[in-house]
Order: sequence, then structure tokens, then C-alpha cells
Amino acid sequence: MGGITTHYIFVTGGVVSSLGKGIVTASLGALLEARRLRVNILKMDPYINVDPGTMNPSQHGEVFVTADGAETDLDLGHYERFVRGSRMSQSNNFTTGSVYAEVIRKERRGDYLGRTVQVIPHITDEIKRRILALGEDHDAVIVEIGGTVGDIESQPFLEAARQLRLEVGARNALFIHLTLVPWLPTAGELKTKPTQNSVKELRSISLQPEIQVCRSTEPLPRDARAKIALFTNVEERAVVPLEDADCIYEIPLLLNRQGLDKIVVEHFGRSCASADLGEWERVVDHLTNPLRKTAIALVGKYLDVPDAYKSLAEAIAHAGIQTRTEVEVRYVDAEEIEQGDDSALADVHAILVPGGFGERGFEGKVRAARYARERNLPYLGICYGLHAAVIDFARNVAGYDNANSTEINPNTRDPVIGLVSEWRDETTGEMHRRDGDEDRGGTMRLGEQGCRLMDGTLARNLYATGTVSERHRHRYEVNDHYISEFESLGLKVAGRSDEQLVEMIELPGQDWFVACQFHPEFTSSPRDGHPLFRGFIEAANRHAAAVATSAQAAAD
Ligand code: GLN
Repeated sequence: MGGITTHYIFVTGGVVSSLGKGIVTASLGALLEARRLRVNILKMDPYINVDPGTMNPSQHGEVFVTADGAETDLDLGHYERFVRGSRMSQSNNFTTGSVYAEVIRKERRGDYLGRTVQVIPHITDEIKRRILALGEDHDAVIVEIGGTVGDIESQPFLEAARQLRLEVGARNALFIHLTLVPWLPTAGELKTKPTQNSVKELRSISLQPEIQVCRSTEPLPRDARAKIALFTNVEERAVVPLEDADCIYEIPLLLNRQGLDKIVVEHFGRSCASADLGEWERVVDHLTNPLRKTAIALVGKYLDVPDAYKSLAEAIAHAGIQTRTEVEVRYVDAEEIEQGDDSALADVHAILVPGGFGERGFEGKVRAARYARERNLPYLGICYGLHAAVIDFARNVAGYDNANSTEINPNTRDPVIGLVSEWRDETTGEMHRRDGDEDRGGTMRLGEQGCRLMDGTLARNLYATGTVSERHRHRYEVNDHYISEFESLGLKVAGRSDEQLVEMIELPGQDWFVACQFHPEFTSSPRDGHPLFRGFIEAANRHAAAVATSAQAAAD
């Protein structure tokens, strides 16, 4: 258990949703880590789904996969990207559904000895148990409470937080409330009333924030700050303005300038080092002062929700930071390409095909891989993007016209991508299907696994090491049955898993053509980047420079 030396910080949101609570939480984590505290972070989600694994990315944004294979809320991605020492696991994110599932399981088992099982204390006890468990070996646990204060859904979380404050002692718990202070053009001012009302709502359930963070599009004037302090009963210095920033990696710096981390450690009576934010300054400097520009196409299908490719967009930005490149990401609809319209790929410097599921748009991804291969454009294929590249190679280089993934066509004559159980009969080479594989959840390859890189490959050079660990979330694999033939035709297997599954392929005849079965975007961070994304953006830059040179030569 956490004990009293662990401090608990709760972050709530009010007025509207999508205020960037996850970024504020992650940024506070970064600041406390910069003060050498050991920080753990938890996201509590107020919905009934047991986990977000089965939720459509168009609804809820990307599913973030942790090293231990949990399918979690995308905010955990922010936590890992901002807090270097944090390593999220399945205990760092839970939903109302999972809490109820656990309590109901215990009730069925007879653990409650026939007593009536209720929200208070049984549900709230289970929530508190999970929060306290995260305190072990940490100085601080930051708990982001999903949803907006006033929603019915998040009430048990808020009630559990209230009880926990009493149990650990008021000096060991702290509440931060984040609200929107809207700009009213007709009045020409920022309005503080919604914030006042939102804190009133919190106080009605006996919660008083110590810190009030105010999101706004304009600078918060002194008198508005004083008014918020007065009406919310928060010290004026603890009313922290947070104006819209150009990039999320600036937020730790902005909050530090407003004294957020200082107020937090003072509240806990902790004497600790002041925050060294040199690395964050470098990140922001490189991001805001790029030396070159490049454009890449991201060929996907969940284009209606910007968060559907969150980690990917961040990983690309990180590569931009590392190479001082302003990367323009053009989101290209795979279905458009499927219908034969390649125009969106015409003037990009590289193509990225990300992960995905199901039939819709997949042929467009195969076409995009072919487009990159035939024009020697840098290509990075991730998971489904690897499948697309292998299928293109099988059809258009090796001449297997019907090559496909069994995810798309279970009866294809040439299942170059399939379930392990379908192809792995090494003695007969026969394909066969095992019962139960239709249950997607049950057979997913999830989480971090080792990959051995082959000497002399681009991947081996980029990673500068012989073995790496990367995260998976998929069911289908490259069918080894075809590999020796493909290798004789110029495809190279650059990495294999511990069980010898194909993890990475390359086309050494191309300038830069790499695809991986895992998701490197989950382990990229603004300060450290990721070797594959860095290599990809460097290749895009080389391509952009070559295009510029030949255009210049043509003009001369
Ligand atoms: N749909 C593919 C599979 O299940 C790829 C999954 C992914 O791209 N994450 O294997």
C-alpha cells in the first residue's frame, strides 16, 4: 500500500470535455519528475466498457497498448511520452465497467457474506484499493478522473477520491480542477461564471480544489484571476492560467512558469530539487524552429477523429524534433486510393501506412505500398501496413495474383498473411484452420515482445542494437511458407520474434522501405524519439532534397 509518504493528486475537469486534462496531468507528471520525484499516473474512465480494446477508434480515439499488453485509453500514451520514468501497465487505467465487473465477481463468489452490495462502500472501496496500490514505490500518484464534474457517470470516482483524502490526510492529497474560461466576443471578455459554477458543483460533493487551472484562448486578466480565486475559495496564486499553446510539449514549461509544481510540493511539505527543464526547452525550440520541411502521406481510414492516430502523429512530430524538420502529415483516405485516385500521393516525400483492422480501405493500403515501391518513395508500414507491403510484393513482384490476408479473404489461394494456426504446419506445408480463431479478443498478440534484428539490415543499423522490444496488437502474421521465395526476389526479413515470426521486412533494392509487425509509435517520446521514425523522416528529407535538386536542374 502507498502509506502516508505517498502523495495523491486528483485532476478533475469541468465546464466542457476535451479540455486537455490528460496533457495537464502528464505535464504535471513531467514537472514532478524533473524535481526528482517518482511519479505514477492513473486514468479512471467513467464508462461501462470493461476496457477500450473493443471500442472503435472513430469513437474514442486510438487504443494505446502498454508494455504488458493492456489495451488502454490514449491518455496513457501522453503519460509515457511526458514522464520518462513511467511505464504504464494494465493497472494504470481502469473503467467503471471493470470496477463493477470485479465487485460483481466477488459478490458471486460470496465474498460479501450475504450483505447488500452498494456503490458506497463496495464500489468506492474497490476504486480506492486500486488507487492506493499504485502508490507503492512512488512519491506521488496523479489520478486523472475522466469525464466532467456533474456527470452522473463519474460520481463514484469523485466520492472515492473524497474518502481517500480523509484516509491519507488532507496534507497528503491535493485536488486540481481544470475548467474552460470562455471568451465572449460580444462582451469582449473572458467569462469566469462557468468556472465558479463548476467549483460550486465540486463543493456540493464536499470537494474543494486547492488548485484551479483555467484554460482560455486569451490571457487571463488579473481581475478575472482574483474573481475566480474569491468565488472558488482557491488561493489567488493557485489560480493557474493556461492559455492555448502552439504545441503540447510547451505545457510543462508554461505550467512551471505559473508555479504549478512549486505549489504542489509546498502543499505536501516536500523539499525537493527545483525542476530542470532544459530538455523540454530543447524540444520546444526544435519544434518551433525547424530547419527544413517535408510532407508525408498517412494512408488510413479513421480520418474523422484526429485522435485515432494520436501516438503515430506524436511519433512523427518527435522525429521532426530530432531532425529539426517541420513534417506536414497529409491524412489520405485509403478508400480514395482504393478507387484508383492516387493524386493525394503525387507530391509527398514519403508514405506511411499505419495499423488497422478489417476490409474497408485495405486494398487502398496495398496500392499505396505499391505506389511507394514503384516510385522508390520512402515507405514505413506498421502492422497492417506491413501486411499491405507483403501482399503487394506477393502479387506484383512474385506473381501470386490472388495473394491476400485471410483477414480479408479466408479462402484465398495464397494466404501470404494469415493466422499462425492456419499456416504453421511445417511438415506438410498445409493450411488449416483451428477452431476458436474467430474470437478476436482471445487470440490477439498483445504487448511487448522481443525481436532479433538481422545483421546488415537497415533496421539493425537504425536501432544500433541486435535485439529490441516493441509492442504488438494484431492477430495475423506473415506466412513463413513464402519467405524463402520472396527473399530470392529481393525482400529481406530484417527481424524475427523469439518464436521466429516475421517482425520486420525491408526492400534493400529501394532507398528506404521498411515495415514492421509491431507498433513503434507507442514507444516514441519527444525527448528520445524513436529510431524507425527518425530514419523514416531522414529518408523523406533526402527524398525532398533530391526532388528539389532535380527540379532545380530542370529549371537551369
Ligand atoms: N488487422 C491486422 C491484424 O489483426 C493488423 C492489426 C494492426 O494493424 N494493428 O493482424
